[in-house]
Amino acid sequence: MVNSISSNIFVQGLFVILSHPKGYWSQLVSEHSFCYEESICNPDVWPGICQTGVRQSPIALPGDRVETYQSNYLRFNEGYSSSVFYLQNDGHTISLTFSPNYTSAGRMAGFGLRVPYIFAKLHFHWGDFKEPDIGSEHSIYGQFYPMEMHLVHYSTFYDSLSQAIESGDPEGVAVVAVFLEPAEEGLGREAEEFNKIARQIKSLYPFKMYREVYDLIDLEPLLPKPGDGCYQYHGSLTTPDCSEVVLWTVSSTRVIPIDPADFKRFSKVKDSDDLPLRNNFRPLKKSLDRVVKHFRVM
Ligand SMILES: [Zn+2]
Repeated sequence: MVNSISSNIFVQGLFVILSHPKGYWSQLVSEHSFCYEESICNPDVWPGICQTGVRQSPIALPGDRVETYQSNYLRFNEGYSSSVFYLQNDGHTISLTFSPNYTSAGRMAGFGLRVPYIFAKLHFHWGDFKEPDIGSEHSIYGQFYPMEMHLVHYSTFYDSLSQAIESGDPEGVAVVAVFLEPAEEGLGREAEEFNKIARQIKSLYPFKMYREVYDLIDLEPLLPKPGDGCYQYHGSLTTPDCSEVVLWTVSSTRVIPIDPADFKRFSKVKDSDDLPLRNNFRPLKKSLDRVVKHFRVM
């Protein structure tokens, strides 16, 4: 029953208490205190290293110190598909994982990555369907995109995503960023896989909603592929506590076309105050002389 969809929709609190390891719930609660738009909790007042850090993300790419490298490989194994996935609205974004413990069989290796990295989860940053020129966190030559997807991985050196973040290791986490934009034509397998997420979003409109979906999803079409240009640099999580533990790989030349109707669904997601969750992107941070490496995937 690969294509059947679970009818199990839980209010997340109940589901978490029954089924999830302890860290899952505490992570949600601790992330609750930031926002994007209201002045008492927006990015201007995010605390600690979010203000004082020197390797913060996102940044304007490519910046002044770009180093160009030859084509190099970036590989993703077969573990980026699953017959079950978990979606949640945590009040800041919609995220997807293959396992409630934020782990999977997905492995990434290649340029700049000293060890393989394990796929933990993905989530989205988006603007407002009425303003197609904003939404992404990173910019490429001054251009922003309507949506940016982050595929969060942790180093095989660590046992879990949270351990990798807590380590302080500047390469404990590797995030692959890809841009998406609504398009009337040219929709392909990427849009089909994205639709499997987007068509569930209605059930996730209210804050804290959680959904277990029994449907075969394959993220491979959404990942960087041969010929794509990528920028790589050392940065941070783009949400509090903004830990500087991320090796970013931003796919810069291929913008993934998605169905406009799917994109529009994101504008109905609600945050913890029951207000529309949109413009959930952090403004650009200073590069502060960081080196950005450019390579093409082969
Ligand atoms: Zn993100």
